[in-house]
Amino acid sequence: MTVDDVLREIKGKVRGVIPPSIDVSDVEFEGALLVIYTKDPDKFAKQENLVRQLAKLLQKRIAVRPDSSVITDTATAEKKIKRLIPTDAELTNIYFLPEVGEVTIEVMKPGVAIGKQGTLLNEIRKTINWSPRIIRTPPIQSKTVKEIREYLRSMSEERKEILRKVGRRLHRGVSEGERFIRVTALGGFRQVGRSCSMLHTQDSKIMVDCGVDVSSENGMPYLHLPEVLPLEKFDAVVITHAHLDHSGLVPLLYKYSYDGPVYCTPPTRDMMTLLQMDYLKVAAADAKKVPYSAENIREVIKNCIVMDYGDTTDITPDVRLTFHNAGHILGSSIAHFHIGQGLYNIAFSGDIKYERTWLFNPAVNRFPRLEAIFMESTYGGKDDFQPSRSEATDRLKDIVYTCLKKKGKVLVPVFAVGRSQEVMIVLEDLIRKKKVPKVNVYLDGMIWEATAIHTAYPEYLNNKLRAKIFQRGENPLLSDVFVRVDTHDMRQEIINDPASCIVLATSGMMSGGPVMEYFKEWAQDKKNTIAFVGYQAEGTIGKRIQKGWSEIPLNVGGKVVNIKMNMNVETCDGFSGHSDRGQLLNFVNNMSPRPERIIFGHGEESKCLDLSSAIHKRYNLATTAPMNLETIRFR
Ligand SMILES: [Zn+2]
Repeated sequence: MTVDDVLREIKGKVRGVIPPSIDVSDVEFEGALLVIYTKDPDKFAKQENLVRQLAKLLQKRIAVRPDSSVITDTATAEKKIKRLIPTDAELTNIYFLPEVGEVTIEVMKPGVAIGKQGTLLNEIRKTINWSPRIIRTPPIQSKTVKEIREYLRSMSEERKEILRKVGRRLHRGVSEGERFIRVTALGGFRQVGRSCSMLHTQDSKIMVDCGVDVSSENGMPYLHLPEVLPLEKFDAVVITHAHLDHSGLVPLLYKYSYDGPVYCTPPTRDMMTLLQMDYLKVAAADAKKVPYSAENIREVIKNCIVMDYGDTTDITPDVRLTFHNAGHILGSSIAHFHIGQGLYNIAFSGDIKYERTWLFNPAVNRFPRLEAIFMESTYGGKDDFQPSRSEATDRLKDIVYTCLKKKGKVLVPVFAVGRSQEVMIVLEDLIRKKKVPKVNVYLDGMIWEATAIHTAYPEYLNNKLRAKIFQRGENPLLSDVFVRVDTHDMRQEIINDPASCIVLATSGMMSGGPVMEYFKEWAQDKKNTIAFVGYQAEGTIGKRIQKGWSEIPLNVGGKVVNIKMNMNVETCDGFSGHSDRGQLLNFVNNMSPRPERIIFGHGEESKCLDLSSAIHKRYNLATTAPMNLETIRFR
């Protein structure tokens, strides 16, 4: 049966169930949903059991949307919303998602806007036939979030087409024949960087992550293999989180003719857009080969299907996806795949933090079912035990205090996403409690923007921080000790200013970015300190400095210049977004259910192997640490 036959049959059944007094204008697959369009949304809503009855009969997830002819146009709808929302709710923004008939209304006081038992929401829905969603206005406006929303709004016709194409593809039905499940390691195994795996069943080809190793000249995953090409054959790309070693090359897939959906959480979509745009900028500035264009990045945004933690959706005829919190960065997730109606369950951990951090709840390790999991082992070596968050805070205090007392400058290379916000929270606390002298804390290179994205998704932060920000109105990220560096001139001024200060700047492993400008000028002065708070991969400049090289060769305008190292080098462990050895062991020990197999990657070779054998011995589980290019068959 072709998908058209399936749809024809469904339409017949739908019309058989819905009373003739309710107009059904169209029935379509859109992504995983079966969408019924009607000119009588009110009448439909009154028959409460109708949708349930249809879902049961058709075995599909169903959405009912008003036909375009009864939806108020956006300009009029906007006017009507403004009239309906009470002034003291303090409306700040309205944006529409036409392809799903949704309007998001941003207000300072959501409680006032929602009204008693949602009365106002119902009134809005009835008046304009859009489905309203009320959210709290983020305290800092993110340019990225704003631009992505505007772009999606302008692309709504194309978005609808994309969702229909995805829907038709995934409702094509399961094929006959032998069933199998296999995963090929395409990158990021026995190494950190370029994470990429291919999950392959008789009916699905799914790519999990598509990262770039920024520390290497050719940091691409093995995308040119015969079983990988052509990329059009892939049904879906699933991204665990926004870091470039997991998402950096997704735009390249579109350049090489992939045209399917990308599944991720909403913050991952926004954060990876920010990081990919920056990746292009940094590559261009360093005269490196730029692998794709901004147009390819927009292609990714257009094809993103976002899902919150805990939502489950069919992504192919035989695979169902759920994201769970991974505790690593904003929106980071463990991707759980349920395959073949109970045949097998396999998860990819992405990067995980199994500890409550200043920002996030610990990674989820409870699943309805799980037979196998791919896990990271960044800090899986036998000596990789890290200090606790409070020990890390004390250590950072000592480093900063000692340097500022000497009237030096503290340079902290950070990933814009995750670690910098944690370090900000700690520094704000130390300064407010006068444990270190009050100096300016400069934020350079996207940190501000990444922070703004954090405030746009408070539901992804841990409960404590959320309460602090939204109930008590104390947002440590908005403290006046933080100064945003947004021009080149301002950076030069700070570099030349003799006053002590703290600078948080990207990139985290010193593979480029504004941190290099400060480093070049400050490295010679022994009063200054460089403090590492994040992981430094082998081969990166950050790792060389950490190892104590006396001179650091840098490429400056095509020439190699040796920077003499006089500044103090410190490492402050314990801020990592990765689990240390103990946390990785605990993650497995407390896992429910215990999987049959664990496959380790995302770590230096010795760490993957060591963690794999330790977990095998301790918990008597089948474990392995494959090399890139290996394939494992699960069924
Ligand atoms: Zn990561």
